[in-house]
Amino acid sequence: MSVTTETGSTTFTSLNPATGAVVGEYPVHDEKAVFAAVERAKAAAEWWAGLGWKGRRVRLLNFKSAIARNLNEVARVIHEETGKPVGDAVFETVGAINLLDWAARNAGKVLGPRSVFPGLLAINQKAVLEYHPLGVVGVIGPWNYPIYTPMGSIAFSLAAGNTVVFKPSEYTPGVGVLLGELMAEVVPEHPVFQVLTGYGETGGALCRAGVNKVAFTGSGPTAKKVMAACAETLTPIVAECGGKDAFIVAADADLEAAAASALWGAMSNAGQTCTGVERIYVVESVYDEFLGKLTERARKLKAGYEEEGASFGPITMPRQLDIIERHINDALASGGRAVVGGPESVRRPFVDPVVLVDVPETSSAICEETFGPTVTVSKVKSVDEAVERANATEYGLAATVFSRSRSAIEVARKLRSGMTSINAAIAFALIPGLPFGGTGESGFGRIHGADGLREFARAKAITRQRFKTPLDTTTFTRTEKEVEQIVNLMKKLHGKTYR
Ligand code: NAD
Repeated sequence: MSVTTETGSTTFTSLNPATGAVVGEYPVHDEKAVFAAVERAKAAAEWWAGLGWKGRRVRLLNFKSAIARNLNEVARVIHEETGKPVGDAVFETVGAINLLDWAARNAGKVLGPRSVFPGLLAINQKAVLEYHPLGVVGVIGPWNYPIYTPMGSIAFSLAAGNTVVFKPSEYTPGVGVLLGELMAEVVPEHPVFQVLTGYGETGGALCRAGVNKVAFTGSGPTAKKVMAACAETLTPIVAECGGKDAFIVAADADLEAAAASALWGAMSNAGQTCTGVERIYVVESVYDEFLGKLTERARKLKAGYEEEGASFGPITMPRQLDIIERHINDALASGGRAVVGGPESVRRPFVDPVVLVDVPETSSAICEETFGPTVTVSKVKSVDEAVERANATEYGLAATVFSRSRSAIEVARKLRSGMTSINAAIAFALIPGLPFGGTGESGFGRIHGADGLREFARAKAITRQRFKTPLDTTTFTRTEKEVEQIVNLMKKLHGKTYR
């Protein structure tokens, strides 16, 4: 809800999705405010870059410490703004701390200068590769993991030597503002990390404000708008979008563990996870047994807010409830069956677990991101068929394979996704050294890990001539005889037949 105050500045309130209570009131930053913030970030960028790896490392580790010391407060704001259980909010913050720690400790190693073998033609040159900061990175975040997800861009951008202007989701501005305050406490000298609040327009202004890169996390349709806005100034973007992740259960899987993992992957955070399990493909010989175990567990879960026994919270964004309802109804209308829950599971703003079977692959419940605590379970003849169906989507974010076989890694390789975990859904998200990102409609570019650091840096190649060679290829002084020598050398070096 947006209101204009007596002074003329516009503010909006963030609401607790479970209770409707006002959590906080924040300014809607307009284009002027966004442009001014980016100007301040540009000025601060020189100082931040000048600190070098060690200077930034200690400050980012202190930022991490500040978040850790304030973990309860951070988790409380996340809990109130998203409605997720406090324990989930704590765990998410732990993930963000983990990312920040890794980025701070590894940036120098990954991006610092290194020598490259110059090759025979340039043997007299010393070749150096180093990675320089881009300048200012604009980070636009979602609401579902309001600290863990943007931290994948914020920490890696800052560690690479950039300053950051962050626009959190309008559903979770308080988490962003709190992060900004914690950073300002440990780095008071310059505004290296600023937080601007508002709706999509504020994000749009950030794309046009002269930032050097935009790190966007959110839905595919919004990513396309961000990309279009950035195209005007040739501003590069990294896009982390949605998914329709598959979970494959092979005949030799530990079915008890697979059911527990699939259920958590599908229902934790009320299914509002970009890498959440949305489709389960089970080899026919173990289908009935797996489904029995899954449904038995699913019936014990319940949505709720702060009440005893609630496994997950409400749907944070009210309009998502319509999508979840549509997918359940579409699955049932197209021949599917609900073996746990059904349309009645949607008790706005909550949705209790829904397990759907016999759903045709053309149903929206299989083709589109649902982002709710619903999951489809489909019987397949073989793991190969499961892979084929898993890959038959425009998305390509993550996937899971459950199998005791060593060859599970081959299955993981065949899945068209940025991340695949074997025998534990979404485990890759716990490992800050692994790159995170998707393909197709799930976006492009990587956050986390060495790739995530390089995403926010530009490669700089430097050569230094160490001595003159008789054959000088970089002046006009070469003779015909020298060209002939080169021809002979190339024939010897590269002219053979390879077997
Ligand atoms: P969203 O696309 O509605 O909004 C994301 C952000 O973009 C918000 O901050 C919003 O204010 C801003 N925005 C909206 N319009 C804009 C515009 N025209 N220009 C610039 N910014 C604009 O997404 P959401 O509902 O907040 O997030 C949920 C989506 O995010 C899901 O699809 C989920 O799968 C995806 N997600 C992906 C990842 C990942 O890492 N791949 C992680 C978390 C969430």
